[in-house]
Amino acid sequence: YQSALGVLGSTEYLGAFVAVDEDATLAQARAADAAIAAGQAGPLAGVPVAHKDIFVTTGWPSTAGSRMLAGYQSPFDATVVRKLGEAGMVTLGKLSCDEFAMGSSNQNVAVPAVGTDQPVPVRNPWDTSRVPGGSSGGSAVAVAAGLAPASTGTDTGGSIRQPASFCGITGIKPTYGRASRYGMVAFASSLDQAGPMARSAEDCALLLSAMCGPDPDRDSTSLDRPAEDFAQGLTGSLDGLRIGVPKEFLGDGVAPGVRAAIDAALAEYEKLGAKRVAVSLPRTELAIPVYYIIAAAEASSNLSRFDGVKFGHRASQYKDLAEMYMKTRAEGFGDEVKRRIMIGTYVLSHGYYDAYYLQAQKVRRMIADDFQAAFRDCDVIAGPAAPTVAWAIGAHSDDPVADYLADVFTLPGSLAGLPGLSLPCGFDGGMPVGLQLIGNYFAEGRLLNAAHRFQ
Ligand code: GLN
Repeated sequence: YQSALGVLGSTEYLGAFVAVDEDATLAQARAADAAIAAGQAGPLAGVPVAHKDIFVTTGWPSTAGSRMLAGYQSPFDATVVRKLGEAGMVTLGKLSCDEFAMGSSNQNVAVPAVGTDQPVPVRNPWDTSRVPGGSSGGSAVAVAAGLAPASTGTDTGGSIRQPASFCGITGIKPTYGRASRYGMVAFASSLDQAGPMARSAEDCALLLSAMCGPDPDRDSTSLDRPAEDFAQGLTGSLDGLRIGVPKEFLGDGVAPGVRAAIDAALAEYEKLGAKRVAVSLPRTELAIPVYYIIAAAEASSNLSRFDGVKFGHRASQYKDLAEMYMKTRAEGFGDEVKRRIMIGTYVLSHGYYDAYYLQAQKVRRMIADDFQAAFRDCDVIAGPAAPTVAWAIGAHSDDPVADYLADVFTLPGSLAGLPGLSLPCGFDGGMPVGLQLIGNYFAEGRLLNAAHRFQ
C-alpha cells in the first residue's frame, strides 16, 4: 500500500483518484490477513481494488463526480462493493468519473482529485495530453498506470469498454441484470450495469464472478441467474468459433489505424481457429439518437431526487421552496448534466413523448432484434470499441455531440442489454486500440475465454 501511495503521489496529475484513506485501507488489509491466517479467506483476499465513485460506500465519500453530492456519506454499501469486500478485496480508494457517469472523456468532473483542491480532467497515462475515455476514466487510468490491479466501472452506453480501449486495458460489461444496480448512483436505469476493469481477461473473470448474482430484494431488475465461476471457464478452444464482423463497424468513420489494428486482431483470431463471418447491424447509427433520447429521459427522472431536501447540496439562500429547488439544482449540477435533464424532460413532455421517447423505444427493440438475427450466423460479434483512439483533452469541449458520436459502437449492445468486452489489440499512432467483443445474453464466459486466448 505504501508503494501504491508513493506512485499515486508522483502521478497525482493523472487525476484518477478522488479519495484515498490509508487507515481504512490498512484496516481492511489487516482483516484480510487475519482471515487468511484463520483459513477463512475469500477467493480474492487481500487483493486491492478501487471503486468508481458512482458506487456508494460506507466510510468513504460517495460523490458520483458531482458538486451535488460533495461531502455525501452513504449509510450503506453498493451490492457490488459489498460482494467484492466479502470476497476479501481491499478498497484502495474512490475513482474519478464523469458527473453521474455522463460523458465519454472524464472531463465532466466537479469534485477535486486527490492531491488537489480543484476538479481536474483525468489524463491518459499513455499520453497525458489526451483523455482517458469515460465515464469510467479514473477506473481505466488506475489500472493502466499501475495504481491498482483492478477497478470497478459502470457502463450505460460504453463507459467500461471505451475507457478500457483508450487506456489499453480489459473491461467487461455483463448482460443487463447480471450485477445488482443497488447502490450505483442511477443514471439511466434500463441501461446501467457494473463490471470489472483490469489488466487481463483472467483478472476480469475473477472479479466478475464475485460481482454477479441475484439481488432480488434490492434491485428488481437483477436476474435470477446464479453467479458463475468465469475463471474456471477460460480453458475453451476457439476452434470453429464464428466471429461476426458487422460491416457497419468498419465503415468510413473508423480511423484507418484503428481499422488496421482490428483487422490484424481478427487475422490472429483466425490463426487461433476462429472463423470470420460477415454480418450486418443495419441500425448501428440509429443507436446514437435512440440512446441519447432514452438515457436522457431516464436521467431526467432519476435526478429529480436531488432537490436539496433529503440529502446532497442545498443552496444557502432562498425565499421559498421553489427558489430553493432552483438554486440548489442550478448550483449542484454541471453543464452536461443540465443538458441531459433538459433533453430528457423535453422528450418526455406531452406532445413530444410519442415523437421522440416512444419512437426511440420502438427502434431500441429493432436494434435488439438485429443482434438476434446476427447471432444466427455467428457466436460472437467483433469490431472496434470506438472509431478512434483517445483524443486530445479539450478537443470536444465546445461540441458535446462529438463525444456522443464516438459512442457509436458501444451503444447498440447497451440498448440490447448484451454483454460486451474490450481488450487491447494494438496501437494507432502510439495510442492503444480496443477490440470489442459482444456476446449474446449470458455469454460473458465465452467473451472472457475468447479474450483470454488472444492475450
Ligand atoms: N458516453 C455515454 C454517455 O455519455 C455513455 C456513458 C456511460 O456508459 N455511463 O452517456
